[in-house]
Amino acid sequence: MREVFLPRSLDEVWDLLDRHPGAAPYAGGTDLLVAIAEGKKSPPALLCLERVDTLARVEDRGDHLYLGAAATYSRLLDSPLVRRELPLLCRAMRTVGSPPVRHMGTLGGNVATASPAGDTLPPLYVLGAEVELGTRASRRRLPVGDFVVGPGATRLGPGELLLGVAVPKAAGFGLPHHEKVGRRKALACAVASLAALLDLAEDGTVRRARLAWGSVGPTVVRVPEVEAALAGRRPTRELLASLAPEVERAVAPIDDVRASAAYRRVVSGLLLERLSLLGPAA
Ligand SMILES: Cc1cc2nc3c(=O)[nH]c(=O)nc-3n(C[C@H](O)[C@H](O)[C@H](O)COP(=O)(O)OP(=O)(O)OC[C@H]3O[C@@H](n4cnc5c(N)ncnc54)[C@H](O)[C@@H]3O)c2cc1C
Repeated sequence: MREVFLPRSLDEVWDLLDRHPGAAPYAGGTDLLVAIAEGKKSPPALLCLERVDTLARVEDRGDHLYLGAAATYSRLLDSPLVRRELPLLCRAMRTVGSPPVRHMGTLGGNVATASPAGDTLPPLYVLGAEVELGTRASRRRLPVGDFVVGPGATRLGPGELLLGVAVPKAAGFGLPHHEKVGRRKALACAVASLAALLDLAEDGTVRRARLAWGSVGPTVVRVPEVEAALAGRRPTRELLASLAPEVERAVAPIDDVRASAAYRRVVSGLLLERLSLLGPAA
């Protein structure tokens, strides 16, 4: 029999972790409980975070929003503040699973799972998000790209919790774009995805571009050479097509049940090419 604890405050969480150091924290359980059911994980006890209100808060902190780790997708997508300030993240969150999964699943669970196919990760990378980690006695922040170190691997220390994610408002980036390619349109893990932030000058040339691909490497893939090559130029189909081979070289996909590595490589380049279809309303 595995004990399940339902603390209502962070103090209670720390007390429980002192008494049950091997207990696995979880929020929606849409990753962890599936892994347990499949025999891939077997923690001695479970610590459910869904009733700890402070872990589900959404706060405007001036230049960024602070999103509690245990905030569900539904809660975040229902927040006018999150919808106004983080449209890129919202686009990605709307593609996660299905309504029941978005009702249970959390941003923190997605980040802590560190799946190459985690849909919130590419937007969090381009937005320059930081995770806040803590114990009863300590707090520290890390860029999300430093926190995730490989498939399913993070820098979360023993006894540490992911408390929240600080996500900068994308000031000046007029064109947030997210595209996910799956095997079907809903309830599908990404075969490849692209999160992009473009800042265009009045003449249509790119001032700044930030791009991140998901599901085509052990972690999110950035290609700074392509971002630099776009600067000062119009993102025409010809230009983007000429840069696609650079993306295809940079990604490191695998063959799996969803798609072949070769297919993912081609799709990664095509996702870049499709940025030419963007307009101010895209
Ligand atoms: C049917 C189905 C469809 C899905 N579709 C998608 C999809 O389209 N895109 C996608 O990205 N994902 C998808 N997922 C995966 C999953 O729903 C998401 O990753 C979700 O965000 C996980 O959140 P959770 O709160 O349920 O995580 P949980 O299962 O509660 O936790 C996940 C992991 O994070 C750890 N953890 C959770 N919270 C904390 C914390 N605060 N501090 C430290 N560690 C913590 C847990 O120990 C566990 O290892 C799907 C899952 C299912 C079952």
